[in-house]
Amino acid sequence: MSLRTKIFLSLICIAVIPLALFGAFANATSTDNLVSIERDALRSGLDSAQRVLSDVQRNLAGYIHDYTQWDELHDQVVVDQPDPVWMQINLAPETPTSTYNTFNLDLLGMWNYKNDLVYSAGAIDEVTVRLKDVISSATKTEATQTRLLSLGSDVYVVAVSAIRTSAFTDPQGILLVGRILGAEDTASIAALTGYDAALYKGARLIAGPVTQLPLPEDNELLDAISNDQYHYDQQDKGYALAFAPITDENGDYTVTLVIWRSRAALETSQSSLSTTLALAVGVGTILAILVAMVLGGSIVAPLNQMAANADNIAAGNYGQRINVQNLSNDELLTLANAFNAMTDQLAQRIDELKYKVDEIDEKNRALRIATAKAEEVARLRGEFLATMSHELRTPLNAIIGFSDVLLMGLGGALNQAQQHQVERLKENGNRLLTLINDVLDISRIEAGRIEIASESFAPAAMLERISEQMQVLAAQKQINFLTVISPSIPPTLVGDEKRLEQVIVNLLSNAFKFTDKGSVNLEATCASSETWSIAVRDSGIGIPPHALDLIFEPFRQVDGSSKRSYSGSGLGLAIAQQLIQSMGGKITVSSELGKGSTFTITLPQILADNTALQPKSQQQGA
Ligand code: ADP
Repeated sequence: MSLRTKIFLSLICIAVIPLALFGAFANATSTDNLVSIERDALRSGLDSAQRVLSDVQRNLAGYIHDYTQWDELHDQVVVDQPDPVWMQINLAPETPTSTYNTFNLDLLGMWNYKNDLVYSAGAIDEVTVRLKDVISSATKTEATQTRLLSLGSDVYVVAVSAIRTSAFTDPQGILLVGRILGAEDTASIAALTGYDAALYKGARLIAGPVTQLPLPEDNELLDAISNDQYHYDQQDKGYALAFAPITDENGDYTVTLVIWRSRAALETSQSSLSTTLALAVGVGTILAILVAMVLGGSIVAPLNQMAANADNIAAGNYGQRINVQNLSNDELLTLANAFNAMTDQLAQRIDELKYKVDEIDEKNRALRIATAKAEEVARLRGEFLATMSHELRTPLNAIIGFSDVLLMGLGGALNQAQQHQVERLKENGNRLLTLINDVLDISRIEAGRIEIASESFAPAAMLERISEQMQVLAAQKQINFLTVISPSIPPTLVGDEKRLEQVIVNLLSNAFKFTDKGSVNLEATCASSETWSIAVRDSGIGIPPHALDLIFEPFRQVDGSSKRSYSGSGLGLAIAQQLIQSMGGKITVSSELGKGSTFTITLPQILADNTALQPKSQQQGA
């Protein structure tokens, strides 16, 4: 996913989703609020409608209260029988100007001072029964009594008042008037509350605009009767509706008052709110997209440039720099400057490195030339030494050979002095030959031209043979010479018998040379299951600790002075060490000054039938 997409999605998450959630929440809350406001309005509408009904009763009571303080009317009830003509003119429904018609009555009854009903119009008998208590107490009550009365299929508003003189004295008779609640009452309710109104008796409409009425369910209306409360119906059917049962003084159900109003206004405000919120979310989303694009341009573009530069640098192009002119002075500018500074430093370091590499290359080249020269010199030296040794040995062998001839008397008898001189000649010839052989060996070894044979031999036989040869030296110096060969030494081993013999003879020669009394021992044993060792032990002059290592270097001797008392070239141990190492073994020395020295050769046990134990040089040579 690209950085631009990530920024866009982040902004969507940060801005648009909360905005959408807020929108949905605000929409739900505002709808709830509007419905609750609508309910409050319905409640106060019902309260007002109830007050209108109360006013209807109060108005009727007011009319009747004034009318019953009319002396003429009082005169009609203080006698047993009122004047029929008077009653016809003033009370009868047939007379248009009568009280009955003036007050738009549906019910009228008049009782005289004896409580006899002296005039009646409408269903007065039933009313008399229902309002017996009110009527009987009317002359004792100052106020006019009003009631809502449910009679048959109608609901009446009824007022009862005692008939008095105009001075509000002498209550003698009673006047009861009533009228059926109808369309004029629901019209008054509608005018006052702003709601359409209807009156129901049970589930039956008794007053109200039939056609527009969104009827409450019958059972709702009937339920409402038994439940003296306001009921609301704000379901989504185009009208908000409320109704309440009206009870009389005894708490008996009389009529159900229903009011309603179209929900168009609510729906309009709801939809305009939803539209506003949808617009806000839409605008928010567009803003988020624009911000993402702007941020994308100002953040992603420089970062992309940095990434491209990094790729260029990785490809070896160190000249690339980020263009900082278009960047605003923020973290990106700092980053770009740091990136450019880093690139500068990198280029500088790489230049330095290149210079150093060139320098090293030059030195390497000089070194190679010097090495080649040194190798050439070493090779030439080796060649020279080998040739010279060879050229020297031929005449030397001739000298030794002719010395022998002379000593054997083949050239005529020698006198004692001549005998001694020829012997010295032969002795020095031999010494020179040994030296030349040693020089030849060391030069071959150094030239890497020495070859180690890999043949089976009997180690015990070899040691015994050497021991026998050396007996002469032991006898000459009167030194004990003991050879101990451990039975653990395998009967046959593989190796270079001649070279090994050369080394052992050299060590023994040294031992006899540097020992004047005591003993020289030759011991062979198997040091481990993989190696065997040969030790040459003497009780001679010993070697000082500082010289223990250097005696293995060519031409090095403990006593290197020209006045030294022991002859030798200082090559024997160097050759011995090189040969033993070439066989995959090692040679070590331990010594104590004045007490003697022990030289130990350790070699791998290479059995004739086991090549696994062969030293490296052998395996490579195989
Ligand atoms: P060299 O021909 O001088 O004996 P080597 O290399 O064999 O040459 O020995 C080097 C020197 O090591 C000798 O000159 C001697 O000083 C010392 N060295 C060798 N073997 C013994 C030994 N068994 N006892 C004392 N010194 C020894």
